[in-house]
Amino acid sequence: MNYAFPPAPVVTLDAMSSNPFPVRRIFCVGQNYPDHVREMGADPGRDEPFFFMKPADAILQNGETMPYPPGTNDLQPEVELVVAMNIGGKNIAPEKVNDMIFGYAVGLDMTRRDLQKSFKEKGQPWEMSKSFDFSAPCSSITPEMYTGVVAKGPIQLKVNGQLRQSADLGDMIWGVPELISKLSHLVEIVPGDLIFTGTPAGVGPVVKGDKIEATIAGLEPLIIEIG
Ligand code: MN
Repeated sequence: MNYAFPPAPVVTLDAMSSNPFPVRRIFCVGQNYPDHVREMGADPGRDEPFFFMKPADAILQNGETMPYPPGTNDLQPEVELVVAMNIGGKNIAPEKVNDMIFGYAVGLDMTRRDLQKSFKEKGQPWEMSKSFDFSAPCSSITPEMYTGVVAKGPIQLKVNGQLRQSADLGDMIWGVPELISKLSHLVEIVPGDLIFTGTPAGVGPVVKGDKIEATIAGLEPLIIEIG
C-alpha cells in the first residue's frame, strides 16, 4: 500500500517478557478518589464516572524528559494506575473485566491546570488541558500473570524526592472492573486500549528541572524529568 506520506509508527510500551504492547487509545477517568474530588472543589458522590481521552502518541516513555508544554504556567502531574486491555468488548459485565486485562502500569495524567480551570469556568471542553504532546508518561506494563488482579496497594508521587500524593488504590470511588464495564457501555473496548483510572489528592505544579517519581506497589516505577 502506498500512502500520501509514511504513516506514523505504532506507539508501544514494553511489557517485560512479553512482546511490546501496541497502544491503541488512551481513556482517562476524572475524579475517582474522594479526597481529590474535594480538593478540586466538588462533591465526592457516586455520580457516574466521566471519561476523556488522550491520543496514543501522547505517551512519553519511562526515563525520558518531558518538554514543558506551551500554553500553561501551571503544569501538574497526576499519578494514576493504568490498565492495559488485550481483549475488547461492548457492554462488559464487571465480573468479566479482569479476564480482559493484559497488565498494569504507572501513568501520569499531565494537566495544564490553568487552562482546565478557565475551560471549566467557560463551560468549554477540557480537551486542550489534558490532551497534548507528551501528556501521558507511562511506565512499562507488568503483565497480569505477575501481579494478579491489582485492586489495592500504595500509589504515590514524589517531586524532587518530596512526597506529594499518597493513597491506596482501594480508595477509588469506582474500582477497575466497574470503571471498565461502564466505559464499555459507551464505546467498544478494543485490544491495545489503556485506561488511566484517576488520581488521589495532593496535586500541584511542577517546573523545568523537576524530577517526578511515580510508584504503585508491584509495578515498575515511572521516573521522568521536566525539561
Ligand atoms: Mn487524572
